[in-house]
Amino acid sequence: MFCEKCGFNNNDGASFCQNCGAPINNAPNQIYPPYQPPVQTIKPKIPSLGMGITSMVLGATTCAFLCYAVIIFPCAIIGLILGCMANSRAKAVGLKNGFATAGIITSVIGLVMVVLSLIFFIWIFDSVDSGYYYDYYYYYFINSLPL
Ligand SMILES: [Zn+2]
Repeated sequence: MFCEKCGFNNNDGASFCQNCGAPINNAPNQIYPPYQPPVQTIKPKIPSLGMGITSMVLGATTCAFLCYAVIIFPCAIIGLILGCMANSRAKAVGLKNGFATAGIITSVIGLVMVVLSLIFFIWIFDSVDSGYYYDYYYYYFINSLPL
């Protein structure tokens, strides 16, 4: 503790200067910065990141290969399930799994497009006179029987 009058370095807690006898203000004159918690530099690990990525890939695959609607639609269902699971696991620890969200979105889009394309194809084949095709397949079926 330095004396304000003469600058002598006194022992901490001294009431009067040991050099000149002046009263020493013991109140801490140093302003301490407010306590700041240490900044967390390590990024919190998002759980089920791989699951979210898988979900996103499956959803995107469904959208990309929509022409194979019947084969591809299970991908969207699995993608949707994985996306929801990864999303809820991330939410449980207060984090966001962007891959899972993207997986859910792409899977839902894929499923909707698959359903729409199926409806469209059913409508096309219903509106077209399919008698010829039907007869052809019937004929083929009959001839393939070992009679
Ligand atoms: Zn002094």
